[in-house]
Amino acid sequence: MRQLIWFQRDLRLNDHAPIHHALATEHSCLFAYFHDPQLTQGEANQAWLAASLEKLQQSLKSKGADLLISDGSFKNHFEDVLNRYQITEVLYHFEQGEPYYTLQQQALEVCKQLKVKLTPFDQAWLSPESILTQQGKPYGVYTPFSKKVFSLLDEVPKAEGAANWSNLKTIDLEPSDANIPASLARIKNTQWAKRLLSHWQMGEQAAWQQANNFLTDSIHHYPKQRDFPSIMGTSQLSIHLHFGEISSVAILEACRNAITSRPADSEAIHAFIRQLIWREFARYLLFFNPDLQTQAYQAKFNQLSWPAPDEQVTAWQTGHTGVPIIDAGMRQLWQTGWMHNRVRMLVASWLTKNLNQHWLVGQQWFEHTLLDADIANNVMGWQWVAGCGVDAAPYFRLFNPVVQSEKFDPQGHYIRKWMPELAPLPNHLIHAPWEAASIIKQQFPALAAQYPLHDPNLKQSRLEHQQRVQTLKMMT
Ligand code: FAD
Repeated sequence: MRQLIWFQRDLRLNDHAPIHHALATEHSCLFAYFHDPQLTQGEANQAWLAASLEKLQQSLKSKGADLLISDGSFKNHFEDVLNRYQITEVLYHFEQGEPYYTLQQQALEVCKQLKVKLTPFDQAWLSPESILTQQGKPYGVYTPFSKKVFSLLDEVPKAEGAANWSNLKTIDLEPSDANIPASLARIKNTQWAKRLLSHWQMGEQAAWQQANNFLTDSIHHYPKQRDFPSIMGTSQLSIHLHFGEISSVAILEACRNAITSRPADSEAIHAFIRQLIWREFARYLLFFNPDLQTQAYQAKFNQLSWPAPDEQVTAWQTGHTGVPIIDAGMRQLWQTGWMHNRVRMLVASWLTKNLNQHWLVGQQWFEHTLLDADIANNVMGWQWVAGCGVDAAPYFRLFNPVVQSEKFDPQGHYIRKWMPELAPLPNHLIHAPWEAASIIKQQFPALAAQYPLHDPNLKQSRLEHQQRVQTLKMMT
């Protein structure tokens, strides 16, 4: 047998069922990643992908193997690689929803035609069909879904741990097959991407370092601190999880081990597991509602008309709306490729409810700029905030960004970090500077020249939104 281990969103060597299985059989192995430019996500994502593939290649080399990286139309390249390297079995992790699902369908056709065995391994905690209501229907609300998942945690398969590489028999690579695709390398080398990546460490080793630090240290304060964007109170594992540099099954196992060894932290660790369950919920929703990427879960929202994106959207994207907490979030995103969850909710509410823009406008900007841009999580997040998704915030309720800013960034530390031009403002002016525009113009002329001080008229935009969605009340 000649086996191909096909990497997708599982760019790691440990806790990797296909690798375990392949090494246990002692057949010859080829490790491959297929990059199809037609199916790639936003540029931030691609920059990380390039860096992560380099890390994976280095790790494989340290084990005596290498990584084939193909660049081009998946179907043709997959077939070509299977033929050239005389592959007889393909092993891969199965993932619902993401663009890889399309590739997996194509792989099925090619393997059938070439009579190559295809062996999938599920990467989810549990199969979606095993998490149903008493009526046998999919859950549409997070809390009962989460309770059900908690009741099934013992059924989540054990993480695989480290594989036995002493059994490795490699298939030699043609040298030209080991290059990072030029399109990815170009994006990774832009000034913007270099700046984003400079904030992070990529790869499996970095992911575990981050997870271990978080689970032994910051986890104690997670429930209290996770909503405060100036504090690094969350795990910051979302990018590693998105690329599968660390497996969510292995993190769950680490959490459960931590609960056994440190029962005092049990409540905090459970709070963290509940967030991981949101991630499982997002994948579950996409499995049962494959058109969620473009269609609202609550169909009546698809009937609303939306204004064309205008200069207010540009101001939102660049962090110049005049509402400091919104602008700080958008600048954190542009500079680091990541944004705190509380602020993601606020900027999404501002765009969809105060500016009345379609949630897809925001989803697409996040997809372009977030390093953790993940189809399932992003769609669920945007639809949740816009009020048209599952378990959503009511469509008539808006976050008040000033109240939220005063509550979750009371000293303005987060705002000052990402908006240095506002640093001189005292705390009582930093959340709503337009309320003291004339004083600021007098006392801080440099600031006034750089930052908009017009009144965003929160009351008016709130009223307009409520009037606009009135019609939805009549629809079922
Ligand atoms: P932690 O609080 O440490 O949580 C641990 C893990 O749980 C996260 O890494 C993530 O994988 C998962 N998780 C946490 N919260 C959520 C959530 N609300 N939904 C789904 N999974 C969650 N997350 C993404 O990974 N990719 C996205 O593209 C994305 N887009 C979003 C868009 C909007 C409008 C909103 C409101 C949220 C979005 N989220 C997205 C969810 C959430 O903001 C991030 O997962 C979280 O901020 C990542 O930080 P962390 O790893 O420190 O989270």
